[in-house]
Parts: sequence; C-alpha cells; structure tokens
Amino acid sequence: MHLKNSKVIVIKIGSSLLVDNKQNIRRKWLSSFAKDIHKLKSKNKKIIIVSSGAIALGCKKMNYKKTNLKLDKSQAVASIGQIELMNLFSQSFSKFKLNISQILLTLDDTEERRRSINAKRTFENLFQLNFIPVVNENDTIATSEIKYGDNDRLASRVAQITNADTLILLSDVDGLFTKNPKLFKDAKLIKKINNFDKDIKNINMKGITEFGKGGMITKIEAAKICNLSGCNMIIANGLHLNPIDKIIKKNNCTLFISKISKLHARKKWIISSVSPKGEIVIDDGAKKALVNGKSLLAAGIKKVSGKFSKGDHIKILDIKRKEFARGLSSFSSEEVHKIIGCHSNEIQKILGYVSKSEVVHKDDMVEV
Ligand code: GLU
Repeated sequence: MHLKNSKVIVIKIGSSLLVDNKQNIRRKWLSSFAKDIHKLKSKNKKIIIVSSGAIALGCKKMNYKKTNLKLDKSQAVASIGQIELMNLFSQSFSKFKLNISQILLTLDDTEERRRSINAKRTFENLFQLNFIPVVNENDTIATSEIKYGDNDRLASRVAQITNADTLILLSDVDGLFTKNPKLFKDAKLIKKINNFDKDIKNINMKGITEFGKGGMITKIEAAKICNLSGCNMIIANGLHLNPIDKIIKKNNCTLFISKISKLHARKKWIISSVSPKGEIVIDDGAKKALVNGKSLLAAGIKKVSGKFSKGDHIKILDIKRKEFARGLSSFSSEEVHKIIGCHSNEIQKILGYVSKSEVVHKDDMVEV
C-alpha cells in the first residue's frame, strides 16, 4: 500500500472509535491502534494523531447525552473530557513505550500564517524529541464563529501545515461510495480518486453526504484541502482492531491521490503572495548558502526594508539588489533590524527572549 512511501502521516480518529454507542470506552481497540503506531514508528514514520472524543468522554463522565448539549455546556464538557482522552492515550501508548504530547488548536492557528508557522515548528520539534503529537480542536474556547466544528478539516489543515504525505481519516464507514450504500444496494466502494474534480462530479451525492457519522461533506472538504497541498488522503473504516494494519493489508478503503507535488503546492503558496511586505538584502556568502538549500541566517543580512511581522512574505535580494528568492520571515522587521549581521547564537541576548535561529527557514523559502 501507498503508506510505504509516506514519511509524515496524520491519522484522524473519530469519537465513535473510542467510545461506542453505549458509552463504553473501546480500550482494546485503542491498544490495537497503539500497536499499529508502534509498528509505523519502527519504520521511522513521523506520526501525528488528530483525535476527537473530548465531548464524548466528558459526556460519559458527567452522564450527559451529547445530543442535547448547548455550546457553552459542551465547552465545559470538552474541558472535562479532554483530560480523560489524553489519559486514555497515555495509558495505551505507554505500554508500547510511545511518548505522546497534546496540541489543542483553534481555527486561527492554522488559518493565520504567523500562527501556522509557529504550530509547524512545534510539530517539528516534537518529532525531533520523538513524541507523537495528539491534536484536538480547542473546544473549550472555540465559539461557533471560530470553530472548525469537525476534526476532518482540522486534520487536513494539520496535514497541510506539517507537509504531511498522507492523511488517514479513520471513521465508521469503509470509504467513499458511488452512492449511499445504506440506500442503494448497487453502491460500490471507490478505491481510488485520481482526479479530484472530475471523479467527485461522477458520484451520486444524493444521501452520500449524510452517510457516516461525521458526514461525507467534511471528508470531501478535507480531501479538497489535501489535494491542493500535495497530500494524499485515505478514508477507511477504523472500527476494526489494528485499523492501520488492515488498511495496509486489505486496502479496503478510498485513496485520494493528489497530483500536485508538495513542494509545488508550498512554492505556489509562497510565490502567490500578493504583496510581499518587505525586502532583505543578503551578501554573496548567504546567497551561495541559500542556493545550496540552506536557511537564511542573520549573519548574511546586509539591509532590511519595509515593515513586516513574523510570518509575513518578504523578498530576498542579492547584493546587486536582484530578487532571487521569496520566503516567510521568522522575525518582524524591527527584530531583523536589531539582529542584522549577527551570529545566530547572539540573537537571544540581543532580543532578550528565545527565538528561532533562522531568519527565513529553508522550508519557507522559494527561489524565483
Ligand atoms: N473536537 C470534538 C471532540 O473532541 C470532536 C469534533 C469531531 O468529532 O469532528 O469531541
């Protein structure tokens, strides 16, 4: 199966996989899932888990019914349930010596450039520390206007900002069907979507969108985001034990292939900035380093102009003032003014706080 070539994999698990409809916790399932993750980790895959279940577990603890909860009540319930959720993960994963960490995101954290860069760096640092981030929406503060509302789209945004190769949505359905299989006997599971726009048009959407607990709409929306980010996506039935192993061995799922290369998607995004906010002139040594795929350090900067914030698009010019790259700055223009020409290990002392060591990270830079 295609997972063999994926280095970074985001796996989203729905509430119904963790808590059944009688409100029993599916511990055996979680343990089998942890075993699958252990196997992936032993193949050096970087894993991010996006897990729902805070509200379901909070309801279980409080003996509430999920269906008649108002928003403010569900926020409190999510706060109660989130700790239960992480405890469950911690118990099951520690048996396989897997370390987990928690990341709670709100919509702005992935939609706003500066915050999404910060989130990206945190994921990268956690990978380096060999921790598995377990992500959920920060339900306790997200109001309806600033809510993803579903973890399918949240997971696709996480996949996008972390440059993931594959997103797996584990749900309670086998995948995307030609028709709603509950309404039509002749409905067939679509194994592969090669051309997102064309193939989706051929599906009889009547009733499809209500099929599956989280709804197919949010899954198709997630597939759209993945498709544009160069990330493949799988919808699979996660109810079985060892769900990832099942995907690899049985391949009974829907695979959305993105034809766009990840680098191309990111480059397009960086290049497509309408108006870069500033310019940085660098010396020949730094230019050479950049051409060789290195990040831009403060030491190589000769001049900075414009007013920009951390995360803004900037132009990078060579000493002859010719633009040769664009990127996202890890510092504001005021900060760059202070650290211009300095060695990276002096930055913290000059600014008075801990910060990144690269002014423009190589992953956030494109040669033009
Ligand atoms: N964030 C919600 C929770 O943890 C779930 C959202 C979803 O299921 O898509 O309960």
